[in-house]
Amino acid sequence: MNIAVFIKQVPDTIDVKINPKTGNLEREGIESTINLFDLHAIEAAIQLKEQHGGKVTVLTMGPLQAQTALKKALAMGCDEAVLLSDRKFAGADTLATGYVLAKAAEKIGPLDVLLFGRHAVDADTGQTGPIVASFLDLPQVTFVRSITVDGSSMICQRALEHCIETVKVSLPVLLTVTSELNDPRYATPINIMKAGKKPQFIWSSEELGCDEGRIGQAGSPSIVRKIYEPVHETGNLHRMNGSIEEIAAALVDLFEEQHLI
Ligand SMILES: Cc1cc2nc3c(=O)[nH]c(=O)nc-3n(C[C@H](O)[C@H](O)[C@H](O)COP(=O)(O)OP(=O)(O)OC[C@H]3O[C@@H](n4cnc5c(N)ncnc54)[C@H](O)[C@@H]3O)c2cc1C
Repeated sequence: MNIAVFIKQVPDTIDVKINPKTGNLEREGIESTINLFDLHAIEAAIQLKEQHGGKVTVLTMGPLQAQTALKKALAMGCDEAVLLSDRKFAGADTLATGYVLAKAAEKIGPLDVLLFGRHAVDADTGQTGPIVASFLDLPQVTFVRSITVDGSSMICQRALEHCIETVKVSLPVLLTVTSELNDPRYATPINIMKAGKKPQFIWSSEELGCDEGRIGQAGSPSIVRKIYEPVHETGNLHRMNGSIEEIAAALVDLFEEQHLI
């Protein structure tokens, strides 16, 4: 089974600060990590290889420091890593990102399974996997919480808001996975050492044969005009004590006083 897993490096904190002047995320001094859901995608890829044989290639599009994320994936058990890195990729939206990832998937060769996280915890669109499926004209199953291979097909359970949906799909297929799918393994010291010897590649726009009008800012029709932190209002707090009836009566008085009712 030829498997590719796509991972994104994201800030390793929920306390992300936004530069009020530029509206950009303050990444300086902030550690990066592999997007949580992508750890589950990596684990799924390795389990599929262990059960059915084959090879797992892990890919990310990002700056050179994204190699740290790839090395961790190799230490978990992926076989080879590809960093898609080129200044021309900068400023990509999900469409331009999906285009580059799809070009890389084509360059790797025929793939049976392409694995993505359900969304990235920083920009959180959940669009990248479906966009890649569309570029490659592949069937896609999103929000996957369980996988069973059945010959040349796969039976997947999808975690939807009010139900679990079971889908049978033929390979090749693109999946986006949830955290219910598995428990990602830790890299053992011996596998961390072995990871350094595994093949690692860096591919540029030219090596991928990208159309320059479809990458980076030039290929990105969506623009994030502004991001801002919500204002945490702490004033005007009223603490009410007493029985439920007393509190309800006090609330009614308060609302009347403020002409809300
Ligand atoms: C605050 C903020 C808001 C943004 N809003 C938008 C927006 O509204 N629309 C838009 O088009 N772009 C937006 N972007 C840009 C967006 O972050 C990038 O386009 C990014 O490459 C993918 O989008 P995502 O983070 O939403 O990933 P998602 O689509 O949520 O990621 C899903 C999965 O795709 C894979 N994946 C994602 N990125 C990569 C990568 N670089 N390499 C390998 N695999 C990857 C991972 O498996 C990941 O789990 C925003 C960026 C920021 C910082």
